[in-house]
Amino acid sequence: MIKMCVVGSGYVGLVAAACFAELGHDVTCVDNDSGRIGALERGDVPIHERFLPELLQRHRGKRLRFSSSLASSVQASEVVFIAVGTPPSESGETDLSYIEAVAREVGAVMATNASGYKVIVEKSTVPATTCEGIRRVMELNGASAASFEVASNPEFLREGTAVTDFLYPDRIVIGAEGPRCIALLQKIYEPLTSGAYYGLKEAIGEGAPAAPARLIVTSAKSAELIKHASNAFLAMKISFINAVAAICEGVGADIDQVRQGIGADSRIGSRFLNPGVGYGGSCFPKDIQAFRAVAQSAGYDFRLLEEVVRINDEQRRRFMAKLRSALWSLRGKRLGVLGLAFKGGTDDIRESQAVAIIQLLLKEGCSIAAYDPAAMEKSRSSGVFENQDVSFSSDAYAAARSADALLILTDWEEFAALDLARLRAELKYPILVDGRNLFRPESVTASGLIYVSMGRSEVPQKAAAIPGK
Ligand code: NAD
Repeated sequence: MIKMCVVGSGYVGLVAAACFAELGHDVTCVDNDSGRIGALERGDVPIHERFLPELLQRHRGKRLRFSSSLASSVQASEVVFIAVGTPPSESGETDLSYIEAVAREVGAVMATNASGYKVIVEKSTVPATTCEGIRRVMELNGASAASFEVASNPEFLREGTAVTDFLYPDRIVIGAEGPRCIALLQKIYEPLTSGAYYGLKEAIGEGAPAAPARLIVTSAKSAELIKHASNAFLAMKISFINAVAAICEGVGADIDQVRQGIGADSRIGSRFLNPGVGYGGSCFPKDIQAFRAVAQSAGYDFRLLEEVVRINDEQRRRFMAKLRSALWSLRGKRLGVLGLAFKGGTDDIRESQAVAIIQLLLKEGCSIAAYDPAAMEKSRSSGVFENQDVSFSSDAYAAARSADALLILTDWEEFAALDLARLRAELKYPILVDGRNLFRPESVTASGLIYVSMGRSEVPQKAAAIPGK
């Protein structure tokens, strides 16, 4: 059992804190947002994430506590994980001010309290060499160089499957130099790397994985770079398949057949080869910009990443063009929209393509009835559609009611299980424009809907523009 604190109680910090408690450690989750800490202490679950309510229920008040005092939490901990936000700055470089603020405070605590050796671990996604910056700031604030080490332990969880991603990782990357620091981090993850966790009868998830988690030890700079390079590569895969989907539409090929054929090559793999309206979220867009900036300052002009972003931005324009050809003019149209979150399984709307497309539609004079299984509250409270012609529906069928067309913008699993005949009956015009390719074209057209999707021919071919109301 390691005594630790996790600084930041957002998507990463809260999930990491709950999972570390699940692995048997003694964890304090710290945030400077005292309202959030109060809510967590009262038993609220501030984010929509499968298995998180169970974990919080299991460990809250026992191995997992919440605090807004960084000083006392650091003092009582041997390991301090930093999981605060690292937003982009105007130039695209990472704004490291939240990380710096934490490093300053931790350094000051360590200067005045002789509470023993500590490891400071950056879990936030940061540019290569941030580890050195943390070390320097801590020393400038009085921490003695011998009393701590700084390590990188990037987080690869995905929102929507964050808990199982954390507990069943493909790999755990530890970027550290000193043997004591490496041993401590290895011990933290030991229940996963030995496979012991998967043998527990109360283990979260669906049974033991084929092999326990692989732990990779690297230098801190390599670990920092692994995270940026991984996200950039995944985004590149998405943009690549979106470009191929555009070509499929041009030549009359079927993206489903093409991606199956590409993905069957084990060197390529089939994951992340789903065409759609583009990637979004709080990570890919900012991490790609940040990685470009890292490359630039290292003397390399990473133009490939510029193209990845360009293709992704282009997807919104392509989707709008599809809508225009299906609906003719957009002004005055009432559209049902399924999906607000940047991806299925989460309530996160940060950099959501769904939100961006709705905003384009509003500019064109459409009115929107939106439904999302988890992200409606965040959409309301964040004010993204304040004073705009957007209403929130109680379910997908209500969003379709009397609409000129129904749009799918987020890949929620439950949308793929909708009753198409019922949707058809609710719609004013039988048009389904699917920006996530959730259905097989034949099944949609069999229920009497005109189906427009990504990288596939429209079915039936005669699907004509429907004039305005
Ligand atoms: P978030 O915005 O959801 O949460 C960050 C939290 O840190 C907030 O609750 C904020 O109040 C708190 N915070 C900020 N400054 C603080 C301080 N000085 N002291 C205490 N708390 C402070 O962010 P997130 O989505 O959890 O991301 C955190 C980091 O993890 C980022 O670097 C992100 O790139 C990375 N990451 C995110 C994901 C993801 O899917 N969200 C996945 C992998 C890595």
